[in-house]
Amino acid sequence: MCGIVGYVGRRDAAPLIVEGLKKLEYRGYDSFGVATIEKGLAFDKHKGRISENDQSALSLKGKIGIGHTRWATHGVPNDANAHPHFDCTGTIALVHNGIIENYAELKRELNSRGHTFRSETDTEVIVHLIEEEYAKKKDLFLAVQNVVPKLEGSYALLVISNNEERMIVARNASPLVIGIGDGETFAASDMTPILEHTERAMFLEDGDIASISGNEVAIYNHGSRVTRPLELIDWSLEDVKKGGFAHFMLKEIYEQPQAFYNTLRAVNSETFPDFVHNPASVTVVACGSSYHTGLIFKYLLEESCRIPVRLEFASEFKYYPPPVEGLVIGITQSGETADTLIALKQAKSHNCRTLAITNILGSSVSRVADATIFMRAGPEISVAATKSFIAQLAVLMQMVNNISGRKCGDMLIHAHQAIEEILLIDLTNAVSVCTGAKDIFYVGRGPFYPVALEGALKMKEISYIHAEGYAAGELKHGPFALLSPETPVIALCLPGDTYGVMISNIKEMKARGAPVIAIGCDGDSELPDIVDIFIPIPRTSPFVLVLTSLVVLQLLAYYTAVALGRDVDKPRNLAKSVTVE
Ligand code: GLU
Repeated sequence: MCGIVGYVGRRDAAPLIVEGLKKLEYRGYDSFGVATIEKGLAFDKHKGRISENDQSALSLKGKIGIGHTRWATHGVPNDANAHPHFDCTGTIALVHNGIIENYAELKRELNSRGHTFRSETDTEVIVHLIEEEYAKKKDLFLAVQNVVPKLEGSYALLVISNNEERMIVARNASPLVIGIGDGETFAASDMTPILEHTERAMFLEDGDIASISGNEVAIYNHGSRVTRPLELIDWSLEDVKKGGFAHFMLKEIYEQPQAFYNTLRAVNSETFPDFVHNPASVTVVACGSSYHTGLIFKYLLEESCRIPVRLEFASEFKYYPPPVEGLVIGITQSGETADTLIALKQAKSHNCRTLAITNILGSSVSRVADATIFMRAGPEISVAATKSFIAQLAVLMQMVNNISGRKCGDMLIHAHQAIEEILLIDLTNAVSVCTGAKDIFYVGRGPFYPVALEGALKMKEISYIHAEGYAAGELKHGPFALLSPETPVIALCLPGDTYGVMISNIKEMKARGAPVIAIGCDGDSELPDIVDIFIPIPRTSPFVLVLTSLVVLQLLAYYTAVALGRDVDKPRNLAKSVTVE
């Protein structure tokens, strides 16, 4: 999510770190900070972007330093919550990328032992824990080594102390790369800030802790010395701005396993306010892709809890009589969607309890709703929503689990692996059909109907091909008139209640001459014979198939748009955050 850069060497650290952070700003940019070892620790940290306010950070002196550009998960973006964070003695500084899931418990314990906290972040517990261990061992490496087993969650850490001429780094489930220069060493979230200084790099693995000085990198994993291969990275500087991906959209599609995992782990029964646990009725207000996640939620909640869910476009909510009571959920990736904010205010004025789901800490929606759940997708730059959609589903699936008391948690905890597997799917044949089409229909039933809607939305917004999602049974009530050999249909035909009737619907479409591209499960013996292109995906639970089939449709839209030469990340006429009615 955030970007971190550290330096140990013969040059002044601050200018190198500041330049590095600017290159990492795509990972997060709500606040930034730098600390260096001068005589004591010197630091500078602020709310806002480093690219707009780098002067005082640049003036820091010292040959060892760490820096951070933040994407807040715990505590609003402000100066105090900006990294680095410091221990009580002000001699240890730390930056962190990730989420410490058990921070509340650790913070209670540290408070009871007399530590003073200066921020609301989850991160700050780590530096106070290191302080305690350092007091015993007087060795920064050993102190960090003794602290990491106490941390649950994801982290890439850089730690310095003015008592030591080195930097200690550690990683678990957050990326960390070490760049080996000539008498100088870098550590960073990815190669972007390192590449102009050296091409030689080592990628750390989960559980690794390293002690870094200008000339030596010593890596340990669970107490044993290990080596990580020294790789030559021959990317151009242009390549790495997007982490090696051609577009932010593709990078964000590839970040979905992590976005889903982080969100799922961060949201549990304690995250939801009391009024969510047993609602008599639920209304969801949302726009665009968020409306489609609302539709999947409606299906899952009604199916597993028999609680009626009303779903409205936020922009239409004000024209209908609002529910007099009940829970109203507003879903908005940016937290600034004007229509959703207005709908939530209106619901409140009718005494409804309101819950917001958003990706952006401190955004307007959290000031409007009674309670807010933050997903942990990380910054999404591409206009077309991908990982924020998957992270919304993680929140909503956890909510269904909570309300139903059904323990699907275990099943979902492996969902990120299923999403990871699907990323490598070959869609060449399907893309060549789509690039030649003027109109495409997407069809599905049950929980796959909203997946069809989202697939069509992705296709139209980035490829500019006219695409419509339909409940498969509806096509014969009008749209059949448009079917022809020039109008492909993309059908979601996955195991479950809807399979048999989907097969019949596909045969009807074929009889009208439409080429059918079907997404089905591995080992299906019927579907491949009746469709033109069969896209097999691994057989998993229906919850997980919703996620994996969706990712296939995101990739299909992406590769089609690229083949047509579209401006994928900034499609015409659209904006990321829709702040007007
Ligand atoms: N959880 C930490 C915070 O909210 C780090 C977030 C990040 O990765 O930027 O400060």
